[in-house]
Amino acid sequence: MPEFRLYNTLTRRVEPFAPTDGQTVRMYTCGPTVYNAAHLGNFRTFLFEDLLRRAFRLAGWEVEQVMNLTDVDDKIIRKAQANGQHILEVTEPYTELFHKDRRYLRIEDAERYPKATEHIPEMIELVERLVANGVAYVADDGSVYFAIDKFADYGKLSQLDKREVKSGARVAQDEYAKENAQDFALWKAAKPEDESTGAAWDSPWGRGRPGWHLECSAMAMKYLGETFDLHAGGIDLIFPHHEDEIAQSEAATGKQFARCWCHGEFLLTDGAKMAKRVGNVANVVELREQGISGTVYRHFVFNAHYRKQLNLGEDSLEQSRAAVNRIGAFALRLADATGGTPALAEAATRAEKAFLEALFDDLNAPESLAALFTFITEANRELDAGGTDLAALERARAAFRLMDSVLDLVPEQETEAELAAWVEERLAARKAARERRDFAAADAARAELTARGILIEDGPSGTRWRRG
Ligand code: AMP
Ligand code: ZN
Repeated sequence: MPEFRLYNTLTRRVEPFAPTDGQTVRMYTCGPTVYNAAHLGNFRTFLFEDLLRRAFRLAGWEVEQVMNLTDVDDKIIRKAQANGQHILEVTEPYTELFHKDRRYLRIEDAERYPKATEHIPEMIELVERLVANGVAYVADDGSVYFAIDKFADYGKLSQLDKREVKSGARVAQDEYAKENAQDFALWKAAKPEDESTGAAWDSPWGRGRPGWHLECSAMAMKYLGETFDLHAGGIDLIFPHHEDEIAQSEAATGKQFARCWCHGEFLLTDGAKMAKRVGNVANVVELREQGISGTVYRHFVFNAHYRKQLNLGEDSLEQSRAAVNRIGAFALRLADATGGTPALAEAATRAEKAFLEALFDDLNAPESLAALFTFITEANRELDAGGTDLAALERARAAFRLMDSVLDLVPEQETEAELAAWVEERLAARKAARERRDFAAADAARAELTARGILIEDGPSGTRWRRG
């Protein structure tokens, strides 16, 4: 097995990576704020983390992944207040939706999904430790702030000079209460809207609620220990979120918090182009509606290195659809084959090696994919030759299984019933659009059908369809 290497934001270098105990990778990944549907950008980050955990398992380690669900914050409270609801009424349906969307994209279950609102005592305890250590102070209104001047390492992750540090988002509103504008809130004194939406708890400093950064520190340390192997998230979280997590945790324990920090780059959207041709693909629900499978989006994401920006445009999704179809056809062929050639076994061994080398080299999924496609080309050629070597065939199947255990790109065989259901749903959407004289939407629905080879015919008794 090649050595596993990862880029560590803390050191700005690609470094060898292994879990401290040699067995289980303990990793924390910042999860969604559940006040609306996670968008495809969020899911790019969650897919990168899915790739990480699957690659770790291929390296022979077990994985203990914790992903928090942020179920109390300003946006949630605002929404609850506007609807006259309790915050849980806002967050519960979106939590369910998150899991549904994640399964659609074949993102494996993390070992734990702790919720912020279920860990208030742990957070209060952490703030108490920080106050006791003299790195946090209580303001007149009962909010508690972290004093960044008291923590010498502040800024080590984002490598910002302290003087340039801008006060992070999500601090309590009343800035005047702070001793230093850059200090961030650990605990926010309750406001009337917090009380009316169920977002206030008793604490030694009066009624209030936790700051966003605090939840991750408290839950990460509870489930993974004071020092753990890896912490990941999107690149926008480096500052202030992860910088503040480090400050709170290390100032409380005196120990290193996470050993390795991994950050995925952003998904961008080419708005104009996308809106015209694909419709506004922004959420998983739109992927579903347009018949774009989870495997297609997985391929699209993995076809770019996680540390490079990626632009969502129609052409790339179309390419991914073709790529995934090719993988699906190959999977069927491999399953049906009755024998191979010695060269097939050699191609399999070569592919596996190239695949692992790329994957373990800072998760170079695009190169891993290239190794898979080279294998598909070579293997198809060998299968055309019609050999009878059963061991060679088994070797090829094993190599393919290994690669797909990480990529998970074999599309489900769509049944006729599923196709028919999708077509009927799109036809109904087209009909509804026409009835409200939204011809652009009606044309878009028709274009989606045509793109999948469905021909439609409008007649006196309604619309009929068939495969083209
Ligand atoms: P949030 O729900 O806003 O806390 O975000 C959840 C995760 O998605 C975080 O790890 C973010 O860094 C990540 N994220 C947000 N926007 C994007 C984007 N456009 N592309 C990739 N990741 C993103
Ligand atoms: Zn976090």
